[in-house]
Amino acid sequence: MHRRRFLELAAIAGVSPLAPVLGATSGKTINDVTQLNPVIVADERKPRSADDIRTALRAWRGSVSVGGGRYSMGGQIAAAGSLHLDMRAMNQVVSFDAARRSIRVQAGMTWRDLQEVIDPRDLSVKIMQSYANFTVGGSVSVNVHGRYVGQGPLVNAVQAMQMVTAGGDVLELSRTREPELFRAVAGGYGGLGIITEVELALDANSRIERVVENVALEQYPAFFRDKILTNKNMVLHNADLTPPHFASPRAISWITSEQPLTEKARLVPRGLDYNLEKNAIWALTELPGGSHLRESVIDRALLLKKAVTWRNYEASQDAASLEPRSRRQSTYLLQEYFVPVANLVPFTQRMAGILKAHQVNALNVSIRHSPADTVSLMAWAPVEMFTFVLYYKQGTQPSASDAVGVWTRKLIDAALELGGRYYLPYRLHATREQFDRAYPQARAFAALKARVDPGNRLRNLLWDKYL
Ligand SMILES: Cc1cc2nc3c(=O)[nH]c(=O)nc-3n(C[C@H](O)[C@H](O)[C@H](O)COP(=O)(O)OP(=O)(O)OC[C@H]3O[C@@H](n4cnc5c(N)ncnc54)[C@H](O)[C@@H]3O)c2cc1C
Repeated sequence: MHRRRFLELAAIAGVSPLAPVLGATSGKTINDVTQLNPVIVADERKPRSADDIRTALRAWRGSVSVGGGRYSMGGQIAAAGSLHLDMRAMNQVVSFDAARRSIRVQAGMTWRDLQEVIDPRDLSVKIMQSYANFTVGGSVSVNVHGRYVGQGPLVNAVQAMQMVTAGGDVLELSRTREPELFRAVAGGYGGLGIITEVELALDANSRIERVVENVALEQYPAFFRDKILTNKNMVLHNADLTPPHFASPRAISWITSEQPLTEKARLVPRGLDYNLEKNAIWALTELPGGSHLRESVIDRALLLKKAVTWRNYEASQDAASLEPRSRRQSTYLLQEYFVPVANLVPFTQRMAGILKAHQVNALNVSIRHSPADTVSLMAWAPVEMFTFVLYYKQGTQPSASDAVGVWTRKLIDAALELGGRYYLPYRLHATREQFDRAYPQARAFAALKARVDPGNRLRNLLWDKYL
């Protein structure tokens, strides 16, 4: 690589070009889905087993970083000059007990690959994101949530894990074996060890029907408590807030149903052509009046169209449907905020004010719900929370990121002032002080890391910045 290009990339990655990369045997750039976080690592391995990882760790004395599907958005998968472990070749089923509704898989397997195995037995992933491209290990490391009503974060469906420590020990973790590590590795962003296997509780696959309702903002918390949370047939639920006002939640529920299927496929086929969706998203974000187009045409079509599908179909959506034609000039990103249920209305109003004042090119905000997380150490929902998932577009030039940083920190302050938190898999705009306020448990996490990874070998840009 030319030295100038190398210096440019290092500068973009926010790393000193003269520091750890100099020891590199070969330089390789690791980037995530946004293409905003190139990091030059020393070398890359694609292990197939825990033994491959132990061998790699023994042969390499420096820092190590871990990546799964690479859908995190702020350098959580890489550290400059590290040995990068790309986990995606670890994608095998270890054991599957359909009768017990339990499966153990290698951590680099994607949800989509897993669905292919369990769907013929009429089983579903219990808790996962809204798209199926993510790896199981990356999802556990973030302790993700989905739209599953009353289920909370993914750790609630994790029965056990196997992990390799920075020192090369292979450990089995569960609520009873190494429980302290189990609690901290879920949501630990690869800082404590490399997850090699995950055992998951599964759910029944079922036929689900979409129900769409408009609810007044002030009524939404009571609507959610009385009509959604208590409904035993409710499988998935979220409410969408749309620009420019973000004031009228549109509640979208998927409820078990005996109605005839409107979509016969059991899983979303791989490799579909998403040009129509891409054009629609482009029009919404680029054309004058795009947000009105959404209100008048697209959302009305959604409201009117009956939809009855398999749960696995709805859970196997492909993130490619969101992918822009090019990420050269602009890119799409996510942010998330968690706010105690009582503060839904004030947070929505403050968020709408900030997004409007900064003319944020927001596509939508999806509200979900999580009960309190009583398991994971780095919990983002220590109390019952509503989650606000903001999907927005920004330019790729550094000045665009600076501008996003300004309004992001205002949104983080708004969440913190209302007893909430922000989510860690996205861009690293938060100040150190905001991180400390949002995640006071990080001190206990750092103490544990000093014990299991005393040489601070397991690194990435998130932990380098905040721990
Ligand atoms: C379109 C889109 C939709 C999303 N929707 C949701 C959503 O509905 N709910 C939600 O909660 N999040 C959502 N996210 C965020 C997403 O869940 C996280 O970014 C998640 O990490 C993605 O999984 P991954 O396999 O890409 O992990 P990566 O981005 O590759 O890794 C994430 C973190 O996990 C670590 N890691 C990865 N594999 C391992 C391993 N085997 N052992 C130890 N550490 C590991 C990495 O070092 C990194 O710190 C969404 C993101 C996108 C882009």
